[in-house]
Amino acid sequence: MTKLVDSYKRKIEYMRISVTDRCNLRCVYCMPSEGIDLAGPEKILRYEELLRIARIGAANGISRIRVTGGEPLVRKGIVGFIRDLAAIDGIEDLSLTTNGVLLGEYAKELKEAGLNRINVSLDSLSHERFKKLTRGDKLDTVLAGLDAAEAAGLTPVKVNMVVIKGFNDDEIIDFANISKTKPYHIRFIEYMPFNTEEGWQKEKCISAREIQERITSTEKLVPVESKAGASGPARRFRFDGAPGEVGFISPVTEHFCGACNRIRLTADGKIRTCLFSDTEIDVKKSLRDGSDDKCIEDLLFYAVKVKPMKHQINEEVFKKCTKTMSLIGG
Ligand code: SAM
Ligand code: SF4
Repeated sequence: MTKLVDSYKRKIEYMRISVTDRCNLRCVYCMPSEGIDLAGPEKILRYEELLRIARIGAANGISRIRVTGGEPLVRKGIVGFIRDLAAIDGIEDLSLTTNGVLLGEYAKELKEAGLNRINVSLDSLSHERFKKLTRGDKLDTVLAGLDAAEAAGLTPVKVNMVVIKGFNDDEIIDFANISKTKPYHIRFIEYMPFNTEEGWQKEKCISAREIQERITSTEKLVPVESKAGASGPARRFRFDGAPGEVGFISPVTEHFCGACNRIRLTADGKIRTCLFSDTEIDVKKSLRDGSDDKCIEDLLFYAVKVKPMKHQINEEVFKKCTKTMSLIGG
């Protein structure tokens, strides 16, 4: 049972750890085409520092960890880091979010190191669009990576599609149909407001409800029952008899903040209490000035205490986050 309970009585048991702000793709909604102020090695937490926080978190009830970035698989030594995380007492669920480019190379090793599951981001099945969106020509490599993840047993393989009106919304049904032949969980995610070169526009965000309606206008979806907390923020369904599932995640239009159980650790050593709030608590300083574990633990408890009740995307006071997802750790 977690000891980390916030001011609104939410139990915090899930930590997302960003291991890098670097990436081998440059998705238009996440990174500028060039010239990003990447944090140097001295600014990024070392693996032993990340592990120290993870251990202190686990001792206080963090039982689920997701490793992310930037692209986590571009950081050297990632497999060893996963092995060390998996060995921490109390960590029951260890997952990773990737763009899939290096998955073919790493899937088997990651599984052997103790990784349980994988989420792969994929927004288009068209080579041309994939190239335009990611500024990289790697669609076939990502598809091969999905196969490798399935073969390695990193299951359920979840495929995250960010839906952008006028760009890829005509592929919603094609993506949903993947779940009829593959045991993947296809998850549709609303396009979220971050401060990017491309510039987020509300009109380009399609609500998860509308995405669902577009699918159910052609075919019925059956709800999938899940244990409380097991599916995170996704509402889950499947086509009758399908091996896979489809899910809908609506951070913009219907916030699920009341059930939020997570905190984030950014690659540059900040605890971020909400994806959409720029409030961050610096742990790097304490990790490097000889502070003891009790001090780090106090910072963790403080971060949980000041976690906001909900995000303010739909309110007038909301300002786009100054950081993009690649810096925060999506
Ligand atoms: N590089 C890895 C990847 O792409 O999966 C992990 C990091 S990436 C920042 C994590 C997730 O954030 C991806 O699924 C990506 O699609 C999502 N993301 C980035 N910017 C977004 C935005 N503006 N709206 C919705 N999702 C976004
Ligand atoms: Fe890289 Fe992931 Fe951001 Fe795309 S979404 S640029 S793959 S970090």
